[in-house]
Amino acid sequence: MSSTAGLRRVAWEAGKPLVMERVEDVAPPQTMEVRIKVKYTSLCHTGLYFWEAKGQTFVPSHIWSRSSWPSLHYDKLLHRIVESVGEGVTDLKAGDHVLPVFTGECGECGHCKSEESNMCDLLRINTDRGVMLSDGKSRFSIKGTPISNFLGTSTFSEFTVVHSGCLVKINPLAPLDKVCILGCGISTGLGATLNVAKPKKGSTVAVFGLGAVGLAAAEGARIAGASRIIGVDLNPSMFEEAKKFGVNEFVNPKEHDRPVQEVIAEITNGGVDRSIECTGNVNAMISAFECVHDGLITRFWKGKWDGGVAVLVGVPNKEAVFMTKPINILNERTLKGTFFGNYKPRTDLPSVVDMYMSKKLQLKKFITHKVPFSEINKAFDYMLNGEGLRCIISMED
Ligand code: NAD
Ligand code: ZN
Repeated sequence: MSSTAGLRRVAWEAGKPLVMERVEDVAPPQTMEVRIKVKYTSLCHTGLYFWEAKGQTFVPSHIWSRSSWPSLHYDKLLHRIVESVGEGVTDLKAGDHVLPVFTGECGECGHCKSEESNMCDLLRINTDRGVMLSDGKSRFSIKGTPISNFLGTSTFSEFTVVHSGCLVKINPLAPLDKVCILGCGISTGLGATLNVAKPKKGSTVAVFGLGAVGLAAAEGARIAGASRIIGVDLNPSMFEEAKKFGVNEFVNPKEHDRPVQEVIAEITNGGVDRSIECTGNVNAMISAFECVHDGLITRFWKGKWDGGVAVLVGVPNKEAVFMTKPINILNERTLKGTFFGNYKPRTDLPSVVDMYMSKKLQLKKFITHKVPFSEINKAFDYMLNGEGLRCIISMED
């Protein structure tokens, strides 16, 4: 197998527009790796966050140094076709359609073998590594300078090399320009509801934060058959869009002079059955927990008592402290958190793609923009300006 040349968008400087570069060398895949041809990619807030370098930790190594910083690529939502596979890869072959994910599933570790955890020991998200696991090297270089990868996927490139454990083989009939958005926040919100909150049919669900992740959580509530979906956001301009996702009531905390959990408890006769927090704001997290009903409320489902459950999805400031009265927990409210909606990427995402194929899950409404690869900086502008939800970047236009 030989190296592959290709165009690639490179972020040379934090917060500055990406520059189109010809990557002279996308090296062949090594042990347990796969080289893929990228067809469509997209961008979410996590990518933006790292591009702005707000969350970046420097790794002092032969690739990362102040002078070469940031030869980092901000790309991770993807949909690709396998071009070639390295030694040891038996479950993928050239031509397969794959969805690369920033967090993987090795299939061997305790987490992968457990029923619920998706925090794989080997391939769990790593924002600092920038090189491949097999030999600690990058597969990209420009004029002899190694270029590190981002989140193990690096898809703002015509070709990329990914560990096979981070590639989800999907139905080849699935349209790549739609299902590519399942690589991050959309699956996270959807899974937070369907896999973690698990609302019953006819129940009442509150969603805090109506960005793409919160709207995906609302989509999960709609699919689960919730009858009341209450959207909570400080920005009322989100409410109109949210109606398309099944949100049928709205509460703006700014319009009330008491805590929003009290307002929600009042309109729901004691609290909601489930709440999903998708803001990253610790006050919203506390409200989301305290607005679910406690065990003193008589709520039954098929004869069994059903307690209130709150799920935290947003990533808070690392200094933030969650405070609530212990009695709120003693009275049988449940608080949970989730990473990537508890989906094990390789095991579970093919069925999410199938949910889309069977029209149960609607994805088109998340896609508000599409740009050719040459105009990728527009996708950053849309996200920075809060315009729309997801922008598809097409490598073929
Ligand atoms: P976003 O910025 O598009 O949306 C957040 C929404 O929350 C906005 O509409 C904002 O107005 C609203 N909001 C902010 N503070 C609020 C408050 N106090 N009360 C009510 N509404 C409030 O963000 P997004 O892309 O939808 O992501 C949401 C969160 O999910 C982020 O914190 C992100 O980091 C996190 N996330 C977590 C995972 C995970 O695996 N757990 C994965 C992806 C994203
Ligand atoms: Zn594992």
